[in-house]
Amino acid sequence: MSNSPATREVDVVVIGAGQAGLSTAWALVRQGFEAETEFVVLDGDGAPGGAWQHRWPSLTLSTTHRVHDLPGMPFEPDAQNLRAADVVPAYFADYERRFALPVHRPVRVSAVHRTDDDRFRVTTDHGDRIARAVVNATGTWTRPFVPHYPGQESFRGRQLHTVDYRSPEEFAGQHVVVVGGGASATQLLGEISRVTSTTWVTRRPPVWREGVFDENVGRQVVAQVEEAVREGRRPGSVVGLTGLLVSTPYIRDGLDRGVLERQPMFDSLTADGVVWADGRFQRADVILWATGFRAAVAHLAPLHLRAPGGGIRMDGTHVAGEPRIHLVGYGPSASTIGANRAGQSAARQLRRLLRAPGELPRTA
Ligand SMILES: Cc1cc2nc3c(=O)[nH]c(=O)nc-3n(C[C@H](O)[C@H](O)[C@H](O)COP(=O)(O)OP(=O)(O)OC[C@H]3O[C@@H](n4cnc5c(N)ncnc54)[C@H](O)[C@@H]3O)c2cc1C
Repeated sequence: MSNSPATREVDVVVIGAGQAGLSTAWALVRQGFEAETEFVVLDGDGAPGGAWQHRWPSLTLSTTHRVHDLPGMPFEPDAQNLRAADVVPAYFADYERRFALPVHRPVRVSAVHRTDDDRFRVTTDHGDRIARAVVNATGTWTRPFVPHYPGQESFRGRQLHTVDYRSPEEFAGQHVVVVGGGASATQLLGEISRVTSTTWVTRRPPVWREGVFDENVGRQVVAQVEEAVREGRRPGSVVGLTGLLVSTPYIRDGLDRGVLERQPMFDSLTADGVVWADGRFQRADVILWATGFRAAVAHLAPLHLRAPGGGIRMDGTHVAGEPRIHLVGYGPSASTIGANRAGQSAARQLRRLLRAPGELPRTA
């Protein structure tokens, strides 16, 4: 769909067209919001797929946790060994077409301000939008997190984050230190260790989980993150908090091959490697920071939503005290299933809020 550079007024602007933005858009249609005239979706990427289009080529559906269906249209891939970066974006593209969702791209939102008449000005690289409510669904992929360690600037080798990773072959013959205790770190270690030598370091000992990942575990993890965002703390990753399932094939294989022998976090970097406080040194050519992400919410800074705990204090899917700003795919809903539920909940609440008698009139 094309971009319109003119300022336009709508009821709801949804920012982002990943799982969270698309499920919200679908639900807004179901709640009676008219596509394009009453709500739009602004997406910074050039093509459908959200972050999935940027995932590394060797990530297949069988190595993801699980990509849940978007509401109203099942995800029915032909095989599990297909690249996530191909099949999920193709599914999202079909979904946008099938439900005629009003996605505008590439449109990057740089700021959201309150207007004098208490609406929201959404500033983009293709003109501004005025909205009565905003659903932020921008995920985390555009905000990779790399911690700082002394000597980092002096390291002469290559440093990269998960978002930059393409394939193990580029590291052949080099020693790679992989930092991070989550799913990305263990998957990438599994592949890289097949072509070269590796060291795995994590800040905390990994949490190995035996058995299967059942709904009970999922509920416990979501409850933990919910509590964090209610208190305005920075949310941990839902996927990260589930721990590492020993029965997952790439983890089993990594354990069997001795690749998942974790070292504690090093204390500093030198020109040629990493050093621990006890003086131990590991030569390295590459440091791969599989150290996660932060919520991509910098454009919301003018709204001053940050709590002292570093996060945004939430009440369900909306910002505490501001029922017109929803964060979908944030905190407890930062999973494909969580984003689906949150999108539908946000749309229901927005219908009640924006369609209530005595509210501002509907925009034309
Ligand atoms: C490697 C990896 C594998 C994962 N596997 C799984 C899994 O198997 N199952 C699972 O449930 N979860 C998984 N996750 C977590 C996953 O990221 C979420 O579940 C979900 O896909 C995120 O959807 P989203 O819509 O919130 O974000 P995204 O898919 O990141 O979509 C956000 C969209 O917002 C746009 N955007 C961002 N900033 C702006 C801006 N300022 N202006 C306009 N547009 C903007 C982006 O362009 C993007 O299109 C995985 C995460 C990673 C990193």
